Order: sequence, then structure tokens, then C-alpha cells
Amino acid sequence: MKLQIQLVPSGLWGINLRKKLSPTDWRVLSRYVRDSNHHTCEYCGIKQSSIMHCHEEFHYNINVVRSEGIQVLAKLVCVCCTCHAVIHWGRSEATLKRTELSELTSHAIRVNDTTPDAWDFHRAEAKLNWDKANMIVKQWITDYRGLDA
Ligand SMILES: [Zn+2]
Repeated sequence: MKLQIQLVPSGLWGINLRKKLSPTDWRVLSRYVRDSNHHTCEYCGIKQSSIMHCHEEFHYNINVVRSEGIQVLAKLVCVCCTCHAVIHWGRSEATLKRTELSELTSHAIRVNDTTPDAWDFHRAEAKLNWDKANMIVKQWITDYRGLDA
């Protein structure tokens, strides 16, 4: 699936590049990402000049033996607000109404050209991986070097 749920482990909530940079630096960087993608969502392809978001896509490397995890910034992605709400499903589930979640589900199924059952499976798998990461990792390290490339 190209549009996937990317749940942030609870130990990393609020820890991201946007918070690390000054508001001005983040504005410049996120504008660069949106401009260089011509304000087009990299997942669904919608083009909106004013309300695109800059998503920080992370990978998580977990060392089970040491109970450590590394949050690696993989890339910055230009996304529409709907795809961004799908990606951050956990936050959406906690803050949106049932009808809004249903619209997000429809959007995800359409963008991924998949079935409701396959989407439900992906959602369950994402939650399972999130639970595992939260249970195993006692200490997180962040790695933003992906931006240097
Ligand atoms: Zn989109």
C-alpha cells in the first residue's frame, strides 16, 4: 500500500524535526518540500496550492535485546491534509468523529486501490507493530541524517 498508517511510538510523541528546528527554519524547509513537489500530494496526487502539509516519514529500527529503538527520518513528503490524517491514524482516531474516520477509510481504500478487508488488516497490523514497539523499547534515539542526502 502506498498510503500507509505510520503510528509514532508513544515514547516519541512530540519529538520530531519540526520541533527541533526554529519555526522559521521549519517554515522554509516545509515550503521547499511543498514547492519542489508542485503542491501535489505524493500519495493521492491532489494538487492544492495553499493547504498542503509536509510530513516527516520515519523508519523505526528496534533492537530487542537492548530494548532500544532508533527513529530514522527517511524523507520529507508533501501530503494533502486527508492523506496526512490517514498516516497519523492514531491521532485521527482520538480526535475525529466516526463519520470523518469513515471518510478517511474510504480515501485510503481509494488511494491504495484496495479492499476494505485489506485496509482493516493493514490497520490491525500497524496497531500491532505500534504495541510491540511501545512494549520493547525503553530508550529511543533519533537520527535525522536522512536529510543530508
Ligand atoms: Zn493526498
